[in-house]
Amino acid sequence: MRLQIRLVISFLVATGITAAVASSVGFMMIGKTTLDEVQRKVQQDINTAKLVFRHSLERLENQLQFYAVRSPIHEAITKGNLEPLEDLRLLIRSDTFTSPGHLALDMLTLVDTSGRVIFRAANPEAKGDVILWDSVVKRCLEEKRPVSSPILMPLDVIVAQNPRLASRVEIPIVKTEKSVEIREKVLRQGMVLRSAYPILDRDGRLLGALVAGILLNKDYSIVDTIKETVYQAERYRGKDMGFSTLFLGGVRIATNVMTRDNRRAVGTIVSKEVYDRVILQGRDWYGRAFVVNDWYISAYTPIYDIDNKIIGMLYTGILEAKYRDMMMRTVFIFLAVTALGMVIAFIISFRLGQSIVNRIKILKRATEAIAAGDLDYQLPSGASSGFDMLDEAFNTMARSLKDRDERLQKAFQRITQTERLASLGQMAAGVAHEINNPLGGILLYSNLVLEEMGPDDPSRDNMQKIIYQTERCKKIVQNLLDFARTPSGDMTPLSINEVIMTSLNLVKDQSIFHGIEIVTELSEGLPTIMGDPSRLEEVFLNLFINASDAMCGKGRLRIASRVSSTGMVVITISDTGKGIDRAYLPHIFEPFFTTKEPGQGTGLGLSITYGIIQKHNGIIDVESEPGRGTTFTITLPPTEGARDDRGEPHTAEEMKIG
Ligand code: ADP
Repeated sequence: MRLQIRLVISFLVATGITAAVASSVGFMMIGKTTLDEVQRKVQQDINTAKLVFRHSLERLENQLQFYAVRSPIHEAITKGNLEPLEDLRLLIRSDTFTSPGHLALDMLTLVDTSGRVIFRAANPEAKGDVILWDSVVKRCLEEKRPVSSPILMPLDVIVAQNPRLASRVEIPIVKTEKSVEIREKVLRQGMVLRSAYPILDRDGRLLGALVAGILLNKDYSIVDTIKETVYQAERYRGKDMGFSTLFLGGVRIATNVMTRDNRRAVGTIVSKEVYDRVILQGRDWYGRAFVVNDWYISAYTPIYDIDNKIIGMLYTGILEAKYRDMMMRTVFIFLAVTALGMVIAFIISFRLGQSIVNRIKILKRATEAIAAGDLDYQLPSGASSGFDMLDEAFNTMARSLKDRDERLQKAFQRITQTERLASLGQMAAGVAHEINNPLGGILLYSNLVLEEMGPDDPSRDNMQKIIYQTERCKKIVQNLLDFARTPSGDMTPLSINEVIMTSLNLVKDQSIFHGIEIVTELSEGLPTIMGDPSRLEEVFLNLFINASDAMCGKGRLRIASRVSSTGMVVITISDTGKGIDRAYLPHIFEPFFTTKEPGQGTGLGLSITYGIIQKHNGIIDVESEPGRGTTFTITLPPTEGARDDRGEPHTAEEMKIG
């Protein structure tokens, strides 16, 4: 459980850190790209605004040119007849506000070459004054070319030009905390789009100039055109997306920014920060700005008059809310994806942890089972567990453990059996040796007594029985001595197949083998072994006879020989007889162990066999299934050097020569 928690926590920490880094980098990038994007847009907007402003000035100039050329101005100046000029009065706008796009004049004046006013359309009574203070007029007369520029005019001058303009000039100033210091309570200046067009006679001599002016205070046509051009009618959450404003100095004189009570926010003042940068330093200002009642991504650019003095600013701004919301939405999606990732990581790590822990539990159970001695324990195969390799390794380990355990047990059994049989053999040999001499004495004296007896002696029969039984004893004793006897010394390299065949030929025609099918599977090319052929024949005869006894004259005897993987010569003798009881199995090699009727068997056959194989440095093993049959396996070492370097056995022919 603790492992699982640790796994889940590690997973979460890893994904969490990645997510946190990705998120913060993501936020920064989203923020920066959005800001860059908006700033680029605002820059474009302010450029468009400048273009609209300049265009208004150009339109004024074009309009003026039209009047200057079309109207009978020549005569008016040369003949002093002002009557025809009366028509120009129609060009002065009568209503205070105009709709966007319509360009109407607020001032129209005709001056002579010296700048003296000959005719003033909006105020016909006031004339004769010289207006060379107006740089636009002055330059036009001097250079005999059209000149246009925005300029500032004080209130009294404007009123002198057109008495009806006073109300538009005088804008009450609304101060706020952040706004720049402005002393006046009411604006007493106007920004005017001014244009002067020279009047020339046919010879190109200057006659005077026609001068027009549009007061921009509270003239919303330019700002509304900018708004329409740049932002169309785009709205966001019930608010207009963007605005435009014209400033005189730091005061809004025309704007489409609305106050809370839904009036145009003229008279409000720009912040000190913007004022210092744009008006005082003459540089553009971009950034967030709180305009009247909301945040705007804003741009301010200075407006210059004809003498290159900064007289005001143009402003465009986009409602920040839309971009802020856009950014928030992106950030939200980002966060949602991150959170989803973490949830997925959690689920995966939880599941993974669970399966690992489960598998560990299964492994633990398995090790415990094996530790408790259940070497047959195998892990349940979970193909989809993802631990196949581990499972396989574990199962292999368990199998090899079992294998080794079995071999160890066998080896142990063999050692104990060898020791037991060795001591038994020693004892038997000792007893046999001791009995052998007295038996010899009994036989000798019995024979002597028998010779001295007359042919009709009634004891003669008994004496003959004594001699017969004593000879039987002597045979048994001889067998016992054979059991412990070392090989006769004439050990020669021999072909085990030949020994087997010789032994088989001795018995196969006997009556007890008549009902038995004999199968031989003798490998060709077996290496020779060092051995005493007559003693080995004894071994095989013993085994064949035991097999036929066990089969009671009916069954199959299979005799096979082969080379094992370790180069040993292996002979197996299998029968389909009654088998050996499990309880007897450990004892069959002991001398005098027999299950046969008294007189049928001595119980010495297998113990002698065992002794002989031992003396040949071999091993004899038995496997038996009661009721099905018995297999004896004899393993003998090959003659030293009987195998060539390549590990290949000699051919049968070579072996015969050997
Ligand atoms: P004996 O043959 O005189 O009994 P052995 O030492 O040859 O003595 O055999 C000992 C015992 O082993 C036998 O009595 C018999 O019970 C058992 N035995 C030996 N070989 C076989 C066999 N092939 N099948 C069944 N039992 C066997």
